[in-house]
Amino acid sequence: MAAPALEGAAVTALRAVLHRVRLAAERSGRRADDVRVVAVSKTKPVSLIDQVYDAGHRCFGENYVQELIDKAPQLPEDIEWHFIGHLQSNKVKALLTAVPNLAMVEGVDNEKVANNLDRVVSNIGRQPLKVLVQVNTSGEVSKSGINPSQCVDLVKHVKLGCPNLEFAGLMTIGMPDYTSTPENFKTLLNCRAELCKALGMAESQCELSMGMSGDFEQAIEMGSTNVRVGSTIFGPRDYSKKK
Ligand SMILES: *Cc1c(COP(=O)(O)O)cnc(C)c1O
Repeated sequence: MAAPALEGAAVTALRAVLHRVRLAAERSGRRADDVRVVAVSKTKPVSLIDQVYDAGHRCFGENYVQELIDKAPQLPEDIEWHFIGHLQSNKVKALLTAVPNLAMVEGVDNEKVANNLDRVVSNIGRQPLKVLVQVNTSGEVSKSGINPSQCVDLVKHVKLGCPNLEFAGLMTIGMPDYTSTPENFKTLLNCRAELCKALGMAESQCELSMGMSGDFEQAIEMGSTNVRVGSTIFGPRDYSKKK
């Protein structure tokens, strides 16, 4: 085969991240395939996402509803979109309608949004939607996510009261400056242990989404199954065009 044309910076960066993920997974006795890398593409243009897609990556994350609604229809349908972070109940319908290939909502943190997701999934007749319950593990007031002590109740609600949702696990966002790493990871692990005990679930049935650009290897070594990596793949974010 002819040598490929000069590879874009994002693709080179993706390969480096996937390599680091593999090494971290191996250090923790797992396979790289057991760790999902969500390429967080917020503020990034469709053309750049396309390059990473063409390199074979399929899982992308966004955390602004309108941005995802705008971008998803311009990109291939076999992308698995993850909505990450807090989702407002009143935006659920628009999001699910515009993004049929939404694979997971990482950030259910109250019953109302769970109920809305459940109802809209049923109304539009799409397949069950995977959700992660977001836990606030850093105690930061401004952060969304439920208190660890409320985790069992909200998961119970999703599992028993939302038949169109598939509870897939727990997610957390640490402090932006990483000062809560690895305590926030430990807190999420404790939540999972407590939850699985209370609901009689196997821990292997409960994914963990923790770790971002600055701490994803540590997160994997501590058991994360899902890391959300943005700037390390796509470069610094550009918020200048946002509200
Ligand atoms: C933006 C974002 C990320 C990615 O952050 P980076 O530091 O760019 O890797 C991960 N998780 C959430 C919830 C985000 O909003």
